[in-house]
Amino acid sequence: MNDMTNPPVPEPRRERIRKPDWIRVKAPTSKGFAETRKLMRELNLNTVCEEAACPNIGECWTKKHATVMILGDVCTRACAFCNVKTGMPRVVDKTEPAHVAEAAAKLGLEHIVITSVDRDDLPDGGADQFVRVIRELRDQTPSTTIEILTPDFRNKHRQAIEKIVAAGPDVYNHNLETVPRLYPTIRPGARYYASLRLLDEVKQHDPSIFTKSGIMLGLGEQRLEVHQVMDDMRSADVDFLTMGQYLQPTPKHAEVIDFVTPQAFDAFAAIGRAKGFLMVASSPLTRSSYHAGDDFAQMRAAREEKLAKAKLR
Ligand code: SF4
Repeated sequence: MNDMTNPPVPEPRRERIRKPDWIRVKAPTSKGFAETRKLMRELNLNTVCEEAACPNIGECWTKKHATVMILGDVCTRACAFCNVKTGMPRVVDKTEPAHVAEAAAKLGLEHIVITSVDRDDLPDGGADQFVRVIRELRDQTPSTTIEILTPDFRNKHRQAIEKIVAAGPDVYNHNLETVPRLYPTIRPGARYYASLRLLDEVKQHDPSIFTKSGIMLGLGEQRLEVHQVMDDMRSADVDFLTMGQYLQPTPKHAEVIDFVTPQAFDAFAAIGRAKGFLMVASSPLTRSSYHAGDDFAQMRAAREEKLAKAKLR
């Protein structure tokens, strides 16, 4: 029976912010998409495109661009923004480097992006597998340029980063993901300054490698905090900045605080370029590996131009 003197107080309704039109993408249906998916299944490869529920998968896979995720599909961390499964990963697959190289050859990739789950369970954090994949690619598809997007190797041997750099990738990417204030809730297993130091170390080991890093917007960061992250990246001599809209993969993940407008992304890009990045990719659908091959070519041209200008002075 209802107690009419004390009616139940309704729970406040929490409105989910609706996705604006500029975020909507078409469902993938093309022949190229189906072929890319078939190849990944045949070679038993995971991709971050699928695991992270990337909104660009239709466009990228139609063009046969996929970002391979090595070291399994189970991550030892549980970041609040990421859709990849968390738990105890399986043993490292020894056939994976050869399968990655086969995929690059069959897809005819001029540029490949390789990333991984976090493997805090392994003594080297998975660094040796990155090295094996880079070497296999250099052997099997020598004209393919290689971009790696690594975890932070926190609490692992300092040689982890040195080994990977020595294997000679063309681009070393490590994402800062968000502003330092939001790390405890968004990236609790990581440390902002440790990630920044990693980027700095890469350049110290080999100044000729391009370094790249990115953040997601829409998690509650302030404009000036974003500017500060850009300054921090530049102080670590990062060449390429990516910024994209955070999208909540499931209701269990961190909520979107706001949808940043395309104009605001353009304004951030202009500021990034003024701060000295060789390349800035900034739009709602920008992801670390989105158009990575085209951007790499532009970044290389921008560096050559900068060096030529410096010689003329
Ligand atoms: S943007 Fe990157 S992760 Fe997303 S579908 Fe394209 S290649 Fe995959």
